[in-house]
Amino acid sequence: MFTGFGQVTGQFLTYDAFINLLNSRAFVDDAYAQYGGKLWWSAALSLLLLLGIGLPARGRLALPNWLAPVPYVVVASIAAILFLRGGEGARGLPASYPTLAYASLYGIEFALSPNRIREGVYLQRTSEPVDHIVLVIDESVSGHYLDINSPSGVETGLSRQWPGITISNFGVVPSITNCSIGSNLALRFGGTRENYRNRIAAGPSIWAFAKSAGMKTVYIDAQRTGGALHNGMNDEEVALIDRFFQFDDEPVLTRDSRVAEQIAIEVSKPEPSFIVANKVGAHFPVHDKFPDEYMTYRPTLPRGQFTDVSDTGNREGFDGSAESWRQYRNAYRNTIAWNVGAFFDRLLATADLSSSALIYTSDHGQNLREDGSSGLSTHCNADPGGSEGAVPLVYIAGADVLPLAKEIRGNGSHYRIFPTLLRLMGYDPKRAQQIYGPDLSDTSEEPETFNTRFNARLGQLPQWQSIDAETLLIPDDQDAEN
Ligand SMILES: [Zn+2]
Repeated sequence: MFTGFGQVTGQFLTYDAFINLLNSRAFVDDAYAQYGGKLWWSAALSLLLLLGIGLPARGRLALPNWLAPVPYVVVASIAAILFLRGGEGARGLPASYPTLAYASLYGIEFALSPNRIREGVYLQRTSEPVDHIVLVIDESVSGHYLDINSPSGVETGLSRQWPGITISNFGVVPSITNCSIGSNLALRFGGTRENYRNRIAAGPSIWAFAKSAGMKTVYIDAQRTGGALHNGMNDEEVALIDRFFQFDDEPVLTRDSRVAEQIAIEVSKPEPSFIVANKVGAHFPVHDKFPDEYMTYRPTLPRGQFTDVSDTGNREGFDGSAESWRQYRNAYRNTIAWNVGAFFDRLLATADLSSSALIYTSDHGQNLREDGSSGLSTHCNADPGGSEGAVPLVYIAGADVLPLAKEIRGNGSHYRIFPTLLRLMGYDPKRAQQIYGPDLSDTSEEPETFNTRFNARLGQLPQWQSIDAETLLIPDDQDAEN
């Protein structure tokens, strides 16, 4: 495990990364599909060691019995050091020790963590909810690649005028973190900068609030199929969802169109509803996530290898060179034109949003090596630059819903979405903001930072990375041939 992680990422396996791996165990087959060669190589190296241990000993050295527990003492000592230093302190040790020590530490943490009972809804409602409330969480869409945020950005339809709705653009805002699971969990449980672990562990979910407000709950998941759950969702949470949609028979290419269609159907129903959608968006691989008619930006990545893949794939043929990344960025733009642009064209042209409020964002941004650096990963990096946390944030109000100003800067972030949803559901906004922080109608300034140590524990604090202009990698206008 330790060697495999190093082979794949080129980074040291920290305790935070170890926990991320454990939490992502449902995707072990995807990891194998993507990094099989490297994992086999790591296994071969480890087997060599096993073989060495298994060889019959010649000239056996007679060690006294009292030395037998030494390996256990070593692992226990490292675990103790890790405990005292918040998971840090295993760098430079032989590969056999850190993972065992991490596993021991995780076991201890697990055994000592109280089995907490999730709280019920504790807020009072002071008004009727908006008829339909929609939260669209896109996948891997960088805010600064969209036309609403950059003059050379990809056309999304959000910059046009649409009859009967007001579109408010908050610009490029910080996500919660730069990995899907953390952002999605904190969005659904109202995590704040100061208190997200408790909220996720024992707070009521947004579904509970919606149901308590008398709304039907709808979850549209375009990423997984066959009822598979992701982004930290479990059966306890699913039990609060009235209608759960996945599109098993729909090709990945057209699943986001189905999301638009389904939202249009849901908001046309007379009963009030709260809808969350996880889109396909623009996760790696982006070779085939747009139809030929959307191949506007060229040269793009070779086509045809990844038509069935939602979000992982063998990276063969993608060498991480500057030219590969240039093609990647072009394919990424084509993907955005289709999965964001055509999505909104379809949604805004077909759905009657007059009594709806819709919030659009992405789970995290992307590092697309605009600076010419090499590497393979686009997000979830341990030491990311600003781009991995730079996401779009748009609020769309139908004619019957109180609109916000059209251009708003400086007070947007993922953290303001949950209290905004509560306000839309009719919960006492004053009380909601005391608990969940300011919402999107609040003009106070919001820090421009996202959390790069989401699994902070053992006394460690979250680490905050800025998304200001200096840390963002700006896309090169020269990527595309004219
Ligand atoms: Zn993601």
